[in-house]
Amino acid sequence: MMNLTIKNLTKYYNKQCVLSIDAFTIERSSFLGIIGPNGAGKSTLVKMLAGLETPSSGEILYEKSLISPPIYKSMTMVFQKPYLLRTSVFNNIAYPLKIRKLNPKAIDKKVNHLIVEMGIESIKNQNAWTLSGGEAQKVALARAIIFEPALLILDEPTANIDPASILTMEKTINKFYQQSAPSIIIVTHNIQQAKRLCKEIAFMHQGKIVEFGKSSDMIHHP
Ligand code: ADP
Ligand code: ADP
Repeated sequence: MMNLTIKNLTKYYNKQCVLSIDAFTIERSSFLGIIGPNGAGKSTLVKMLAGLETPSSGEILYEKSLISPPIYKSMTMVFQKPYLLRTSVFNNIAYPLKIRKLNPKAIDKKVNHLIVEMGIESIKNQNAWTLSGGEAQKVALARAIIFEPALLILDEPTANIDPASILTMEKTINKFYQQSAPSIIIVTHNIQQAKRLCKEIAFMHQGKIVEFGKSSDMIHHP
């Protein structure tokens, strides 16, 4: 739950401007979809919001304060490719709770609950490096939401996975949104997915947000 404001934000690579946004606000408990063609700057934008890229100029403000270390405690990002630890599925999902020093019993309960909810009990003890793409991405999502981040950023999280896993991912994301009221930002090429999940849509083109609105207004029925 946080208000996020962008002011005069730019990003240059090799003197070439790939992103330029004058003003944009993401309200608390938004569910924002970012769509647009390849090279539009979607990844660059969300990486800057996640603090993984430095702006060339401008500001990103969280609840009126500049991006700073405390925000990272309550924010996380899921990428197109899952980055998992070479240990069991259970340990991967438990890790964010362990580093936050939750007691082992509470960790067990929380992790097992989510594993059952996502229907991944059968791979619970499997090494994460041996999973299929869809399984791995479900584990990456579980690890991201297990500590209930205030801001969840998803960069094409379902681009390379099977339809059944996409369905599970969407259900899980939606349930997390309903239960915890975080702000969620998802970059997706899948317009139907944006329509299913998001409340607002930003359309990016050549480094700018060229359209923004309620998803029900932006995306028409076929
Ligand atoms: P999108 O996610 O919309 O496909 P990106 O944000 O990945 O777009 O890229 C926007 C533009 O910035 C592209 O032209 C891309 O080639 C360029 N770009 C992205 N990252 C880098 C980088 N690390 N170095 C140089 N150019 C980059
Ligand atoms: P995405 O699929 O999320 O848009 P890409 O696969 O295009 O990302 O890029 C993967 C990585 O390569 C990113 O870290 C991005 O910053 C970097 N990258 C993208 N375009 C360029 C480029 N033109 N030159 C150098 N690095 C780039």
